[in-house]
Amino acid sequence: MKFAIVLLSFVFVGNLLAQSKPTADLIITNAKVWTVDKAHPTAQAVAVLGDRIVAVGSNADVEVLRSHDTKVIDAGGKLLLPGFNDAHVHFVSGGRSLDAVQLNDATSLEEFKQRVLERAKVTPQGEWIESGDWDETKWTPATLPTKDAIDSFTPDTPVFLDRYDGHMALANSVALRLAGVTDKTPDPPGGVIVRDAQGNPTGALKDAAKDLVLNVIPPLSHDQRLRAMRRALEYAASLGVTSVQSMNDERENSFAEIRAYGELLQSGELTTRVYVAPAISDWQDQAKIGIRHAFGSSFLRIGALKGFADGSLGSGTAYFFDPYSNDPNNSGLLGKQMQPLSRMRDWMMQADAAGLQICTHAIGDRAISTVLDLYTDVVKAHPGMERRLRIEHAQHMAAKDFARFAQLDVIASVQPYQAIDDGRWAEARTGHDRASRTYAFRTFLDHGVHLAFGTDWDVAPLNPLLTIYAAVTRATLDGKNPNGWFPEQKLTVAEAVEGYTSGSAYAEFQEKEKASITPGKLADMVLLSDDIFSIDPVKIRDVKVLKTIVGGKIVWDQDRKKQYSTAN
Ligand SMILES: [Zn+2]
Repeated sequence: MKFAIVLLSFVFVGNLLAQSKPTADLIITNAKVWTVDKAHPTAQAVAVLGDRIVAVGSNADVEVLRSHDTKVIDAGGKLLLPGFNDAHVHFVSGGRSLDAVQLNDATSLEEFKQRVLERAKVTPQGEWIESGDWDETKWTPATLPTKDAIDSFTPDTPVFLDRYDGHMALANSVALRLAGVTDKTPDPPGGVIVRDAQGNPTGALKDAAKDLVLNVIPPLSHDQRLRAMRRALEYAASLGVTSVQSMNDERENSFAEIRAYGELLQSGELTTRVYVAPAISDWQDQAKIGIRHAFGSSFLRIGALKGFADGSLGSGTAYFFDPYSNDPNNSGLLGKQMQPLSRMRDWMMQADAAGLQICTHAIGDRAISTVLDLYTDVVKAHPGMERRLRIEHAQHMAAKDFARFAQLDVIASVQPYQAIDDGRWAEARTGHDRASRTYAFRTFLDHGVHLAFGTDWDVAPLNPLLTIYAAVTRATLDGKNPNGWFPEQKLTVAEAVEGYTSGSAYAEFQEKEKASITPGKLADMVLLSDDIFSIDPVKIRDVKVLKTIVGGKIVWDQDRKKQYSTAN
């Protein structure tokens, strides 16, 4: 009797193998797999069927899923990670920045002119030439450029070029004419129209005077937006960024952005997964059609909202309890959306009741505290809901607020690169005590706060390896803190990778769908040139992405320097 059962089972299994042997579309073998799955942290091989991971294990475990149709990648012992998920980007502005004329490293006025001339030749009729980030201190003599330098080859093209610090820009005559700026135009409050000896504008506009021209620059056209997105998608793929969370800012219309992503999704060009957060002031637009957090498909989701509580440390508008150390009369400013506070509270209450996710930009300690107060009211009003409130940046923390962050289960959506950039000068503005709680990633983790990693691209570079390098070394860009700026806040490589994968996926309600190399999850993975767990952390910033896989499709292959669509 026993014999018969074994035989029957054998026949049954044999039939199954013969008739419908399961096979994989893609197999990656000989990899050093770091799964970010606590149950099985490491592996050697991965199998993918469709857009999902179906097996993770040894080469032999995965080999059984191979057929003659299976595509095989021999990873050659390289490190395979889940794809990077950037929790805070401005994707369209980022894409535009890639194609903007680059003037920052021009070493002379001649070179500056030449680069604008080259750009003018390829700029379509009616479009503006913008950005540039010029820096006249790199020229000899270091004199401000004037419109005369560029007018002769831009007779019909409006030009508006930013100085690198954002506090000045150069307009050509066409731009000044469109803006109605003449010798009769008075300097606006908070701004200066630079003039020559005869009183005529030279084209250089300082601070609030820039708005005179900014106000007449037309919003992006649909084609410009699509062009920027295609560039951004290609760039993200080359850096192993497989998901982004695109946050509203004043430079972009989020609903136009969503529409353009939708088009790219249909044409198979959307190679990065996107979660879009429009402005909180527009919360009703999503609420009225019943959208809730993380609504949509695996490639395109909405249901989040972005608000602003204050400005930035660099511009002296981050909002603090105490004055700036270098400016005793200034404690920063509560942002426009927070005045009056009751309006922001109403927006948050109603958005939360509608099931939308709230993400609020807050940088100074008092701005963060004020947002936590508002979030406390929201949680009290609708207890028991899973809402995953977020604070974007969370840069300068009051000591008392780490515990509140944890109690309210607020996600700290942080950008570690800023720590090594701002870290050069932040302490001069905040003093030592406040600086010790700046970009305090370790203290957040110690309090059990969820960290989500991102870059704020195009404010900082999109490259995740630079971000991981920053979190692990805290070595400021000026080389003055090789052992780390407030080194007690450094993270391990594993913690930084978690911030960029499971942490940012949690921040968008997607931790069950992606963020680890686990059977059943979306096949988003990245193959790196070096093992970031074993190399000198200083070298992490030089590590390259060899392959990027999104939904089982290779969207970046360094060998072929080519980007693919998800449709092929
Ligand atoms: Zn931002």
